Amino acid sequence: MPARPEFDLGDIVQMKKKHPCGGYLWKVTRIGADIKMKCQTCDRVVMLPRSEFERRMVRVEKKAEKNTP
Ligand SMILES: [Zn+2]
Repeated sequence: MPARPEFDLGDIVQMKKKHPCGGYLWKVTRIGADIKMKCQTCDRVVMLPRSEFERRMVRVEKKAEKNTP
C-alpha cells in the first residue's frame, strides 16, 4: 500500500500535473476537508478535496519555514 504523503500548512509541494502556466510547485495555504494551494508561478489559488490532493501530490519540495506567530 502506498504511504500517505505528509504535508503541513505552508509547505511547497510538487504535483503530478503541471499547471497550464507551466509551474508545478504549489504552496499549501489551507488544510481541511479541502486543500487550498497557491501556484508558485502564477499565484493562482486552487482548491481540491483532500483525497484528490493526496493522489495528485508527488512530494514535498520544501517544508514550511517556522514563522513567528
Ligand atoms: Zn500557475
